[in-house]
Amino acid sequence: MVRSSGPLSSPPGSVFPDPSVLEGVTAPAFAHLPDPATLFARRAERFARLAQGHPLGPYLSFLAHIARAQHVAAERAPAPEPTDAEAVERARAHEMPPLDRSHFTSDAAFEAIFDRLLSQARAIEKPEPAEAALAHVLAASDAERGEMIRNVLADSIPVEALAEHLYVAAALQVHFARRAAQLDAKALVPVGDGICPACGGPPVASVVVDWPSAAGARYCACALCGTWWNFVRVRCTACGSTGGIAYQEMEGGNGAIKAETCDACHSYAKVLYLSKDPDLDPVADDVASLGLDLKQKEGPYRRSTFNPFLLGY
Ligand SMILES: [Zn+2]
Ligand SMILES: [Zn+2]
Repeated sequence: MVRSSGPLSSPPGSVFPDPSVLEGVTAPAFAHLPDPATLFARRAERFARLAQGHPLGPYLSFLAHIARAQHVAAERAPAPEPTDAEAVERARAHEMPPLDRSHFTSDAAFEAIFDRLLSQARAIEKPEPAEAALAHVLAASDAERGEMIRNVLADSIPVEALAEHLYVAAALQVHFARRAAQLDAKALVPVGDGICPACGGPPVASVVVDWPSAAGARYCACALCGTWWNFVRVRCTACGSTGGIAYQEMEGGNGAIKAETCDACHSYAKVLYLSKDPDLDPVADDVASLGLDLKQKEGPYRRSTFNPFLLGY
């Protein structure tokens, strides 16, 4: 799901001792970059599994096919242009993310991914509104596509065009995951609460990991580029408050997914616990746990995280 380096690559349950544990080094790495070669393929499998017997089954199945299309698009596109080394250093010095979302310019890699994803999407069985939305995106002018790209990168998707933006967001996730994968994880620095240190975007959820090298550590997962960054537990991922934090889960839940609520900013964000379910995927499990969002609608907390696949949230 995420690329790690050195001793951090010891998989959960590995029979090999983790050197960092033996040496008593416990500080978790600050950031883990996505591995585009596996990220979307695993997500597709997760969506497909979650779809079985789920009230949102048809939609989760559709998203499994979208994630599969993302994987295929990532596999065959030319490499994105590397981010300028000086710009990366400048961003680091100013505690800014190296991938600048507000000045996105398309390149051959993104064009190839977008085209490939749309052509893959044509073959996916989907409900009529999703079919109409795809036709709209395929027929869109460069200017219209540019506007949809800007909307996704600003995390501001117009409610009347959510279905169209889903395809654009899927293409951008692939492109930004590939760009993030080119960065040096060790050179990333914290840029603020609730902000991805690679691309500046909000998290989709946070994950408490059970890796031998970082057991019990929490990472926020970026909704766009898929980078995971370390974030202490029992602290609001939106405003940074450590007071007034509480947890809620669905009745009869197994403790794998909870909503972390914050009384300081009246927001909530989901926390996923890998120790309860090692196959959890932040994007897929966020959609599949829509029930938790619906439950929150009755209360005082508003969702702080972003997921372009969670239509209407
Ligand atoms: Zn990011
Ligand atoms: Zn807060």
